[in-house]
Amino acid sequence: MNFRDYYSVLGVPKNAAQKDIKSAYRKLARKWHPDANPNNAKESEEKFKEISEAYEVLGDAEKRKKYDLLGPDWQQAARQAEQQRRYRTSAGAEDFDFGDLGGRGGNAGPSGFSDFFDMFFSGVGRRQTAGTTSGFAQRGQDLETTIELGLRDTYDGGKKSISLQVEDVCPRCRGTGTENGHLCSQCHGTGRILSVKKFDVTIPKGIGEGQRIRLAGQGGVGLNGGPNGDLYLVVKSPEDATYKRKGDDLYVDLPVSIYDLLLGGEVNVPTLGGPVAMTIPEGTQNNRLLRLSGKGMPHVKGGGAGDQYVRLIGQLPDALSDKEKKLFKELASMRDGKP
Ligand SMILES: [Zn+2]
Repeated sequence: MNFRDYYSVLGVPKNAAQKDIKSAYRKLARKWHPDANPNNAKESEEKFKEISEAYEVLGDAEKRKKYDLLGPDWQQAARQAEQQRRYRTSAGAEDFDFGDLGGRGGNAGPSGFSDFFDMFFSGVGRRQTAGTTSGFAQRGQDLETTIELGLRDTYDGGKKSISLQVEDVCPRCRGTGTENGHLCSQCHGTGRILSVKKFDVTIPKGIGEGQRIRLAGQGGVGLNGGPNGDLYLVVKSPEDATYKRKGDDLYVDLPVSIYDLLLGGEVNVPTLGGPVAMTIPEGTQNNRLLRLSGKGMPHVKGGGAGDQYVRLIGQLPDALSDKEKKLFKELASMRDGKP
């Protein structure tokens, strides 16, 4: 994250009067408006955004005061604030909407301004009463955090009680980021804190690594009465000791006797749904994969399940008795075509 020098963006001195800031902004905004620069669309759009961001802060007395307070200490404030930012903004991909708080669609981004702005200013003024000049309702940011779910958890699905850090308005400064002319000592100027809340999260059966569960309204705090953003839980699934997951199929290694491979037999195979009897056909090669149809992970979107593949690992008998040795020798010589 880089410091944003809003004064130099607008080309005004640090002690500029509010009206001079406003007129500098208007002049620059006219000059760099994308509509006025059809041949230079990309640059003018960037410029226009920069100017808008600078004015969003300097044009607002409260934000400007806080910006001036950040001053040379901004990096320290940012570092401390960064510790709160275990989350990042979400967008798109495969989401599973199990929020129980009145869902709302879409993934409106954060302010659209720089990280610097989002860190220190997107929260300022959120508790202002309606009718003040600076506030327009703005939806809170979508936030993202990880949730660790073992294979068993994702196979079974269902409700799970989970403690999560969520964003809240800083109680000390009520979201302004400042107190008595200093940066707030609790939130270090961000106006937000993280607090731990317990949720009953519904885990969709079959959800997998990297997929997300949406908790509607549990994301970033909305501005000026705007709705909160959503909180996305990104699934992290540690490797299981027994089952390897590929898509919705599972793979297990199963030690079997060579006699079952040679002569055929019936074995018990562990599956997440409980042990299943499986027939090994006569003359099965070592390391062969057999398929148990529909015994894999449930499809997260419903409609059946993947398969489980069982790799047969033939186990040679150890500590052969003299009689066994003799019989194996006999078998070996038969293979060699000797009598
Ligand atoms: Zn605070």
